[in-house]
Amino acid sequence: MRLAVLKEAAPGETRVALLPDAVKSLIAKGFEVAVESGAGLASGHGDEAYAQAGASLTSDRASLLASATILPLVNAPSAQDQRAIQPGAVALGFLRPLDDPAPLLPAIEAGVTLFAVELVPRITRAQAMDALSSMATVAGYKAVILAADHLPRLFPMLMTAAGTIAPARVFVIGAGVAGLQAIATARRLGAVVEAYDVRAAAGEQVRSLGAKFLDVDLGGIATEDKGGYARELSEEALERGRDLIAKTARTADVIVTTAQVPGRRAPLLIRRDAVENMRPGTIVVDLAAAAGGNCELTRPGETQLHHGVTLFAPLNLPVTVPGHASQLYSRNIANFLALLIKDGALHLDMDDEIIRGSCVAHQGKIVNPRVAEALEAHASAPASP
Ligand code: NAD
Repeated sequence: MRLAVLKEAAPGETRVALLPDAVKSLIAKGFEVAVESGAGLASGHGDEAYAQAGASLTSDRASLLASATILPLVNAPSAQDQRAIQPGAVALGFLRPLDDPAPLLPAIEAGVTLFAVELVPRITRAQAMDALSSMATVAGYKAVILAADHLPRLFPMLMTAAGTIAPARVFVIGAGVAGLQAIATARRLGAVVEAYDVRAAAGEQVRSLGAKFLDVDLGGIATEDKGGYARELSEEALERGRDLIAKTARTADVIVTTAQVPGRRAPLLIRRDAVENMRPGTIVVDLAAAAGGNCELTRPGETQLHHGVTLFAPLNLPVTVPGHASQLYSRNIANFLALLIKDGALHLDMDDEIIRGSCVAHQGKIVNPRVAEALEAHASAPASP
């Protein structure tokens, strides 16, 4: 079986799907691995490291695509690249099958089997394959570093001969994977941290990191689904959260927002007037920007200065930490591949919850009903002018 590692072509992409150590262990398991020259360079892994791991290096992308049985990817390849993949090959990566499925049609029509890491069910057995958690961990860390870099203040409390410096006050909204990492990072830098989440279970995790959990009386409504994720709340419940957020934000130096509800637009939690009541110099990092954002003013991918408040809305912070983002992702991919291989051959057991759940298309057909729905919605949407 021939596995090909491509140099990612998406603009701004710095990560690579497999690092040399994962390549080495796959070769030990009997794979042949070919790597596109320069694939790992931006993440700090030169061609030499892949060659030492036992991979062959080539600059011929077309032949790499045409000869691969398995293509671990970070992003979906271009339409032209997809058409060059052989039928029956397996491609896996962040394919955005629910947000933007149409660009996957060339590979689907070419009979490529597609797996989307976003669809891996978040069950205990799949934890080691959970690429969303890996990237959320990196993003949560980097959001705080970004804020610290732009804050006109220091983070830790300092007692100097020139006087005492008070610690920064950081407010984290949404204490899931990214939020908890943001809390831990801000605490390590010496900030005083407060956090809010609608899931009561998050309270204990927040407190265990040395931060204060802010409770809101939501009138006893169910805020969690059976999978442990937040539900979409009523407007009244959201408004109670917004009031607490606006009040807490007035005295914060940094606000990191991460609140999301799977499959929905991110909840709107910070209104324009709440931003206008923040102190000048406050930094807001909206990590939910890709899902529409938690702040009314958020413009995904842009940075704005509004009434002295800097609002960041990054769409892909993991690309700014490509070494470790690739390391975590590479492990996730290698663990997923282990599930697809039996006795040295591809074995796609569609009865396996993880394989079935993450498969987008197989043998020319879309096998995931949510993806089929998303494609239909896309097809019936009016064409943009
Ligand atoms: P997410 O990215 O969907 O949401 C981020 C956070 O926003 C969540 O904590 C959510 O409760 C919160 N949120 C949603 N609406 C909100 C609102 N109106 N106000 C305030 N906060 C709001 O979630 P995530 O980080 O991917 O994970 C959330 C949960 O799932 C966590 O408990 C996590 O530990 C768990 N999880 C489990 C597994 C697993 O078992 N394999 C893997 C990943 C995550």
